[in-house]
Amino acid sequence: MDAGVHELTRWSAARLGHALAAREVSAAEVTTAHLERIAAVDDRVHAFLCVDAEGALAAAETVDAARARGDQLPLLAGVPVAVKDVLAQTGLPTTCGSRILRGWVPPYDATVVRRLRAAGMVLLGKTNMDEFAMGSSTEHSAYGPTHNPWDLDRIPGGSGGGSAAAVASWSAPLAIGTDTGGSIRQPAAVTGTVGVKPTYGAVSRYGLVALASSLDQAGPCARTVADAALLHAVIAGHDRLDSTSIDAPVPDVVAAARRGAEADLRGVRVGLVRELDGDGYAPGVRTRFTEAVEVLAGLGAEVVEVSCPHFPYALAAYYLILPSEASSNLARFDGMRFGLRDGDDGTHSAEEVMARSRAAGFGPEAKRRIMLGTYALSTGYYDAYYGQAQKVRTLVAADFAAAFAQVDVVVSPTTPTTAFRLGEKVDDPMAMYLSDIATIPANLAGIAAMSLPAGRAEEDGLPVGVQLMAPAMADDRLYRVGAALEAALVARWGHLLIEEAPAL
Ligand code: GLN
Repeated sequence: MDAGVHELTRWSAARLGHALAAREVSAAEVTTAHLERIAAVDDRVHAFLCVDAEGALAAAETVDAARARGDQLPLLAGVPVAVKDVLAQTGLPTTCGSRILRGWVPPYDATVVRRLRAAGMVLLGKTNMDEFAMGSSTEHSAYGPTHNPWDLDRIPGGSGGGSAAAVASWSAPLAIGTDTGGSIRQPAAVTGTVGVKPTYGAVSRYGLVALASSLDQAGPCARTVADAALLHAVIAGHDRLDSTSIDAPVPDVVAAARRGAEADLRGVRVGLVRELDGDGYAPGVRTRFTEAVEVLAGLGAEVVEVSCPHFPYALAAYYLILPSEASSNLARFDGMRFGLRDGDDGTHSAEEVMARSRAAGFGPEAKRRIMLGTYALSTGYYDAYYGQAQKVRTLVAADFAAAFAQVDVVVSPTTPTTAFRLGEKVDDPMAMYLSDIATIPANLAGIAAMSLPAGRAEEDGLPVGVQLMAPAMADDRLYRVGAALEAALVARWGHLLIEEAPAL
């Protein structure tokens, strides 16, 4: 093959899909190229907790055989994808980055995984994450941290740092993440990639291990907005196995991305959130964000300021709601039903086995949140903590509703800083929690949000992300505006931002 086998790992998912459909390349070649890339770099990046070379090649051969017979297949058939280790996938362990689930192999596929398979996509393996998706750096994984492909001494974001790093290190063209407070968007921002949190309820959560059920949402990680749209279209849509799944047509995100690439935003109103535009951002983040807004205006968008007065309370509310729900959801890991069991030697009571298994199985961040959440839900404190937080949540949603009465999308920087150093914040929970200050409001309100690359900060040369937010079930607006901004920035840079990452 002319391009050389590793060249295929540089192709977008869209390009791979078209080349596969035209039978210019085979799914086996594409899969082998990515498996070789993983073998070459993942000892340094550690994006994957488990790589399924055999399963991936078998899936690729099935696609190649179907194409050889002349079958018409979906566009992403034969395109590899990596899946965050919080989604159940038969045949492989699902650990959620926790010791307590070490070695547990789920007996069924999550709906997201089933849809990837139905689209003919090649599942490469499971990606690293903070334990039960609690964290902003992937350092809370029981299996060791993931490293940022831009600088291996830095965090790749979290909790879905493995999925973002897999995409950023050219180990997978696409990945699935989950976002409860920013875990798709924040890793995308600090790795120079694209990440989308779809509208709450847009993607089925059947088979997604629950962290905070009123916030959790799965979504795409990619290197381009168009690729994210293609994956979004595969995984979104109603599922009767998830009672929170929205029974309505999925907005046409692929068409929206195509329209956006025409780079004309005349008639689109963009809101700058005053409360997400303060002094709390690193200078390089501010500069790139301001420039991105100027680019949007240059594309014809009308930019106005909007106020969301309750956003300053969103982080505090989130860190009561999330631990409350997590403490309840994680009660199922009791050493009886799944994974690790400690002290089952006939000398301990069932209660003792449960206590020992949870003590040995959960890491410090999970324990911290289980205790906080249990406290917030306890009699006498419920109204003061959990109840108050729910009221703040309603006010945050009302702020968004008022903003969207004036504008089509709102924008902010995705993160306060670029990727920080491994170890820098791991012992300082408050500093870690602040990484998600700009992403959390969208989860509380259940709306759709995207992060895409805005350039590199002057002070450290690391990627900066810009966040777009749109009303629930208007995910297509993110793709239109995101693709337009991407087209303008890529024209300026001459290539995708990720192509500036130092070679691994
Ligand atoms: N960093 C946030 C937290 O620790 C978000 C996590 C997520 O989205 N899963 O809760």
